[in-house]
Amino acid sequence: MASLKSGLNLRSAVKLPPGEDLNDWIAVHVVDFFNRINLIYGTITEFCTEETCPRMSGGPKYEYLWADNAKFKKPTPLPAVQYVSHLMDWIEAQINNENVFPTRTDVPFPKNFVNICKKILTRLYRVFVHVYIHHFDRLVSIGVEAHVNTCYKHFTYFVKEFNLIAEKEFEPLTELTGRLCSSSPKDLHSSRSIPTYRLSPTS
Ligand code: ZN
Repeated sequence: MASLKSGLNLRSAVKLPPGEDLNDWIAVHVVDFFNRINLIYGTITEFCTEETCPRMSGGPKYEYLWADNAKFKKPTPLPAVQYVSHLMDWIEAQINNENVFPTRTDVPFPKNFVNICKKILTRLYRVFVHVYIHHFDRLVSIGVEAHVNTCYKHFTYFVKEFNLIAEKEFEPLTELTGRLCSSSPKDLHSSRSIPTYRLSPTS
C-alpha cells in the first residue's frame, strides 16, 4: 500500500481552524478537491472509454445513474466517460456561479450552500469509486497511486469531519477506506458483503 506519510497530519488539517467561517472552509476544499479529482481522472481518461466502461460503475455491484435538471430529467445509465464529463461540467457551473460560490466577501453564501456542497462531494466521490475499482492497475503503472491515495485520505477525512457524504456512499470502497483512513487495525477486517443495488444520484 503506497501513500505519502501525511495521514495523521491530514486528519487534523481538515478541522475548522478557530475563527474560520465554516462555509468559506467548505468552499475552499470543494474547489480544491474538484481540481485534484479532475486531474486524477485526467490521468486515466484515455483508458476509460465507452468500450472499456460502458457504465459508470464501481465493480459489478454498483452503478451510478446520471440526472440533472436539464437534459437528463430521469436517472440515466451512461458510459463512465460521459457520466464524469457531465459531472465535472455540472460542478464547474456551480463553482462559477456567483450566487452559489460568491467571490466577494460582502456577498453571503446561499442558505442551501452546504447541501449543494454535499451533492458536489457525493458526486466527486463516485469518480474515486470508478477510478479505484476499474483503473487501479493504471494508477500503479503510471506511478500516481500514492498521490491518489493521499488525495482520497484528505477527501475522506474532510467529508467525515463535517458529515458531508452519506455513509452508504462509502460502501464500494469500504475496505480501501479502512486501510487508508483507519488507525485501528481491527477495522482492516470490517468489510462485509454488500447487497447488489443501484445507487441513483442524490436528489
Ligand atoms: Zn472507466
